[in-house]
Amino acid sequence: MKIFNTLSRRKEEFVPLEAGKVKMYVCGPTVYNFIHIGNARPMIVFDTVRRYFEYKGYDVNFVSNFTDVDDKIIKKAIEEGVDSRVISERYIEECKKDMAAMNVKPATTHPLATQEIGGMLEMIQTLIDKGHAYAAKDGTVYFRTKSFKDYGKLSHKNLEDLQSGFREIKVTGEEGKEDSADFVLWKPKKEGEPFWESPWCNGRPGWHIECSVMSKKYLGEQIDIHAGGEDLIFPHHENEIAQSEAANGKQFATYWMHNAFLNIDNRKMSKSLGNFFTVREISEKYDLQVLRFFMLSAHYRSPLNFSADLMEASKNGLERILTCMEKLRGLEARAGEKEKTQVEKEALEAMKVLTAKYEAAMEDDFNTADAISALFEMVKLANTSAGEESSKAFVTAVREELDGLCQVLGILTEKKEEALDSQIEEMIAARQQARKDKNFALADEIRGKLLEMGIILEDTREGVKWKRA
Ligand code: AMP
Ligand code: ZN
Repeated sequence: MKIFNTLSRRKEEFVPLEAGKVKMYVCGPTVYNFIHIGNARPMIVFDTVRRYFEYKGYDVNFVSNFTDVDDKIIKKAIEEGVDSRVISERYIEECKKDMAAMNVKPATTHPLATQEIGGMLEMIQTLIDKGHAYAAKDGTVYFRTKSFKDYGKLSHKNLEDLQSGFREIKVTGEEGKEDSADFVLWKPKKEGEPFWESPWCNGRPGWHIECSVMSKKYLGEQIDIHAGGEDLIFPHHENEIAQSEAANGKQFATYWMHNAFLNIDNRKMSKSLGNFFTVREISEKYDLQVLRFFMLSAHYRSPLNFSADLMEASKNGLERILTCMEKLRGLEARAGEKEKTQVEKEALEAMKVLTAKYEAAMEDDFNTADAISALFEMVKLANTSAGEESSKAFVTAVREELDGLCQVLGILTEKKEEALDSQIEEMIAARQQARKDKNFALADEIRGKLLEMGIILEDTREGVKWKRA
């Protein structure tokens, strides 16, 4: 399996740290609003990467954070006159609903920055002890960029250029920096902001430290894949490498994967430009499976332009697959138990060749666009070779093959069976018990399972309410 590694700027053969296992970390969203479909691109892309590893039999430990303390969250909390936790909790819930509707699997763990402050204080202290960080007079702690000789290796920038670039941009409040390229690990609180105590000052973490800490806690000092959108290469991921490798003395991630932007009119879709559609808005017009299929219709490292035409084309393409699957299911129910004919055996051989084509595309740096082409060829073959006369064994084999490959792309080929109300109530009761026992990991796991079943929980004053997505 080949993966394009941003570190080397080449496709490299995937070799896991531990045989049969993949440790993967994807930087998640800052939760101050509904996510837009640009944010959905890494979610869908890396969920598909995860699904392909699982299809190949790997055990994937997938961690993705929510940044729940940040200037934008605080600003929104002040605007609404509520605690910033109210804002972050609200949008984490909304984000999880969108993820479920896009058939993005919940991560193995979704850590929250505010729950990991202890680990951040520890790592910052280690960096200070090792001479990689220092506290300025006002209590701000900076990373000493010069002390990390590999700084710039991911973004392929050199420190001297960076220093002269940064010198132009003076940031007020950062006068205590030794060097213009140093970055913040911990900063003093401002009036009205959430804060934590620390040896340096009452304050809050810089953005980058959380991922280094959470990745280490949930996956260990070394991981296989670290991923996110390409805007994260610099400074976020460059700084994560500096923090983790300086603190742990080991290479952090083997492979760095970055998706290209989702654009609109050839410009990056972003909150700040105001040129975005939320996932929720799109869901009013399309089944979000269409959005998912649209995202996967391009290679993840190619920019993708969002347009109504392309969405319509994706809708039609998806329908072709779903119609074929429905036909196969109907035939399967009616087909007789008989031996496969020679023609059927040959058709299955041809299917295998196409499956190999699909896998070869996925193993060439997850080329979902080519994998989808192979899938369409399979659909065509299924449509022409399966009919009322077909044997059940043949139809089942074709249907299972297609189902498996659709599952890798996260495409549901039939409506999920609805769970019974009683079963859901039982799971909710088990989650409540787990919370009472302070077993939050179990409580989260149950919530995750419910989400996978399309059940959304809301913790209200009157107790837990639930609804189907
Ligand atoms: P943010 O909440 O801005 O930190 O973004 C969360 C994730 O979405 C990051 O991995 C970003 O790189 C990614 N992202 C944001 N905008 C886009 C876009 N227009 N296209 C692709 N990825 C994006
Ligand atoms: Zn991160």
